[in-house]
Formats: sequence, structure tokens, C-alpha cells
Amino acid sequence: MSATRILLGTLAGLATIGMAGTGAAGAATCTATPAQTEGPYYRAGAPQRTVLATAGVRGTRLVVSGRVLDPSCRPVARARVDVWQADGSGAYDNAGYRLRGWVRTDARGRYRFTTVVPGQYPGRTEHIHVKITPPGGDTLTTQLYFPNAGANDGDFIYDRRLLVRLDTSARPWRATFTFVAPR
Ligand code: FE
Repeated sequence: MSATRILLGTLAGLATIGMAGTGAAGAATCTATPAQTEGPYYRAGAPQRTVLATAGVRGTRLVVSGRVLDPSCRPVARARVDVWQADGSGAYDNAGYRLRGWVRTDARGRYRFTTVVPGQYPGRTEHIHVKITPPGGDTLTTQLYFPNAGANDGDFIYDRRLLVRLDTSARPWRATFTFVAPR
């Protein structure tokens, strides 16, 4: 993704929580984050770590953060947030664990990791793969996308409900997204 395209996308952030209204008892409900294919590049065994953008990794530095909520919009503590992605030139590490790792949400459901803006690879727009696993819950497998990335509309897996909110005025750039995980 070019810097210009990302810059243009900065103001295009969409709400990432689907507030579906109130339930019968008046409790708030949050729409579950859409699931997406795992794709061919997941590797089990990645380390627990906050910094995925280790020395020598190519790409624009990016901090991704947000929260994990349950369908009642309550924060999910100690959810496992497992991430894997291509580097800035669109390459996955399929031998080691470069740009692969996982963190746990804190008591307020927050997660955060430092990575790079992923590059395109043939057939795919820029995306970050994620698995969210609440304690004792089912795993939600999905992907995150970047606003106004030129290849979004040509990617048949792309879903605008999975767009991050992107701030390219920050250094490093910041992306935020709130996941709503199944119970
Ligand atoms: Fe991928």
C-alpha cells in the first residue's frame, strides 16, 4: 500500500463495533465480528510477544490496538489474540515466526501489538490475519483491512466491516479495531 493511499484512508474510518441495539431485557448487544478464512499461511507455535516488528522486518511501523468484547459488549479479559501477516513487501515467513505472535487481553479487554503495514501479494489486498480465543470460548478466525487500500475492491475476501481505523499522523502509525467474539 502506498503512503498516499493510507493517508487518504485516514479519515475514512468506519465504526468497528456493530451496535445491534438492545435485547429483550434492555441489555446492549454487539454484533459478532465476521469470521473469515484462515488462509494457507497460519503456523502453530508462534511466541507470545507484543513486538512482532523485530529488527530487519521490512515495512512501515504500525501499532495495532483495541479491545475484545463479548456479544453483550462486555470486555473479555485474557482472550488470546493471535496474529500473522506478510511483511511490507507481501512476504510471509513460512519457515520461522517473523511477524507471527500472540498476546492476551488485559482486565479491560485491551490488546496491543507493534507490527508493520502488510504489503499486497498476488490476489490479496493488504490484510492482517487474526484468531481471537476467549478463555474457554470458541476461536474467531478473521482478517483486518486498511481503509482506501487500492486493492480492497479487487479482493473477493475483503469485507469493509473489518476495516481498521487508521491514524497515519501518529509515529508509528496507529490502527485500532474492536473485536466482538462469540461466547
Ligand atoms: Fe494472508
